[in-house]
Amino acid sequence: MTDNFTMPFAGGILDHVETQRSAEELQAFVAKPQARCICFHKGSPALRREGGLKRIHPSELIGRNLIDPGPIFLGLEGDAPIFAASIQNPTDVTIEELFQNLRSAARMLSPQDMALAGRAKSLLDWHFNHRFCSKCGQVSQPKEGGLKRQCPSCETEHFPRVNPVVIMLILSGDKVLLGRGAGWPEGAMSALAGFISPGESMEEAVARETFEEVGIRVKNPRYIFSQPWPWPSQLMMGVICDAESEDVTINKNELEDARWFTREEVQAVYDKSGEAFARLPRFTIAHHLLRHWLET
Ligand SMILES: [Zn+2]
Repeated sequence: MTDNFTMPFAGGILDHVETQRSAEELQAFVAKPQARCICFHKGSPALRREGGLKRIHPSELIGRNLIDPGPIFLGLEGDAPIFAASIQNPTDVTIEELFQNLRSAARMLSPQDMALAGRAKSLLDWHFNHRFCSKCGQVSQPKEGGLKRQCPSCETEHFPRVNPVVIMLILSGDKVLLGRGAGWPEGAMSALAGFISPGESMEEAVARETFEEVGIRVKNPRYIFSQPWPWPSQLMMGVICDAESEDVTINKNELEDARWFTREEVQAVYDKSGEAFARLPRFTIAHHLLRHWLET
C-alpha cells in the first residue's frame, strides 16, 4: 500500500465546525460570497460537464423545490462554507445540472470530491429517511445545519447513524475466497461482507457472517483498513482472516456463488492478463483489500 493512498470516500478536507452552528452563524456562512452548495437529485450528484462536482452559490437555491431537510451545512473547505441540498425536480432549474449516479460518477471525481459527495449523500439520505421522531411519531426538524434532528413535541434529539459492516478476505494458504450475490453483473466476485449485530465484536461478526454464508470457520482476523460507504451510510471494516477448511457450503439465501481463487488468478485479473472474475471498481474497499493482499 503506497504512503499517499487515500481510501475512496475517505480523506475529506472539510472542517465540520460543529461548534459554530447557531442560526446567526449559519446565516453568515450562507451569505459569504465564496459559499458553495452541491446539489443532488434522487441520490445522484450534479456534475460539471467538464468533470467534478457542480458548485453553486446557496442563493441560487432560492425558489427551488428542495427536499427535506433543505440545505445542510457540510463544513468549511478552507474559508468556503460548503452546503448540500436535494432538489425535487431538476427540470425546474436554470443551471446546467448533470445529475449522475454516484457509482458511475465516482470514476470521474477527485478524491476530495468523492469524500464530499459521500458525506453529503449519507447525510441527505439520513435526513430524508428520518423525518419523523422514532419516539413519538411527530415530524422532526433539522438542527444546527443538519448535524442532527430534534422532535418539537418530545424534544428527543436524533443523530445521523453510521452502520458498521465487516468485509473480509478469507485465506487458505495462497488462495482467497470470493463470492457473488444474485443479480450481480456477469463475472463479478467480491469479498464476503455483513452487518455487525448488536452485542457483537468486529471479530465475532467476521466469524459468524463467514460461517453463515459459506459454512467455513475462520481464525486469526486481522483488521486492515476501513471505508465510509454512502449506500446509505456504512463504515466498511476490512479484515483478513484464515479459513480452517476449504469446504464451501453456499447459503443460497445469501450468495449465488463462492469460490477459491489462487494468488496467480487474482494477480492476473489486476494485471488485466486474466479473467477469472471481473475486476472490482477502484472505489470499493474490496478492490483495495485484494490489492493489499497481493502486495503482502
Ligand atoms: Zn418525539
